[in-house]
Amino acid sequence: MSEFKLLVTGCKGRMGQAVISAAAAQGVPVGAGIDVGDSLSDALSKCSCTIDFSSHHFTNELLTESLRLGKSLVIGTTGHTDEELAQIKEASKTIPVVFASNFSVGVNTLFWLTRKAAELLGPDFDLEVVEMHHRMKKDSPSGTARTLVEILADVRGLDYDTDCRHGRFGDVGARTPKEIGVHALRGGDVVGDHTVVFANVGERVELTHKASSRDTFAGGAVRAARWLADKPAGLYDMQDVLGLK
Ligand code: NAD
Repeated sequence: MSEFKLLVTGCKGRMGQAVISAAAAQGVPVGAGIDVGDSLSDALSKCSCTIDFSSHHFTNELLTESLRLGKSLVIGTTGHTDEELAQIKEASKTIPVVFASNFSVGVNTLFWLTRKAAELLGPDFDLEVVEMHHRMKKDSPSGTARTLVEILADVRGLDYDTDCRHGRFGDVGARTPKEIGVHALRGGDVVGDHTVVFANVGERVELTHKASSRDTFAGGAVRAARWLADKPAGLYDMQDVLGLK
């Protein structure tokens, strides 16, 4: 059997560089790295699994080539359109895919705690998600904030698209119970902060995670690629990798 090797897409970026370091730290060989303008098929044919932290505009090509060559895929890129999300789901019927808005153990614990808190606190608590990231981040809200809102919406039986409100500006009226707020702050070099606020009259619970290094995401992504090596086709997330389900 040929040696397990990683392809890193978006290899010149902040996360791509962190993944290359994390792979070295975990003793996983990187067979190739590509960035804008490089050939995907040549690089992919030499590798066993791709770790992708590039751009959602690249997702279609990456899925097509991964399907053609039968390679597994770890997707960390965020900001996908609904169409791209559907393409990821479809591809995972044929190849194994880990798709996670966040690869850190801490944030996946926050996902778990958020569900528990929403179930325990019940419908009287207003729900708000606040995130902050560095000034270069392109998508908003973050993929992690979106996952947090999706968890809250799932517990409340609400819909992400109709019940989630991005900010509150102008004369928007009083808050309704059927509303989840999401607020994105951008500035400086913040790696990633997320807070879920559960607010009732007279009391408030806040769950916060703060990432101070990209190494936590990169290490998790390499761990996910190793975990995926003997898995059948399917769509997995970091909760699967960490055994939290
Ligand atoms: P970045 O801008 O520093 O790096 C992205 C890299 O991808 C750049 O080098 C860019 O040239 C390259 N790229 C863009 N289009 C490409 C293409 N078509 N083919 C090949 N390479 C291409 O960004 P970043 O901070 O490293 O983040 C990358 C992505 O990862 C973003 O979507 C971000 O939101 C996401 N992210 C996810 C997690 C997570 O845990 N899931 C953590 C951090 C960042």
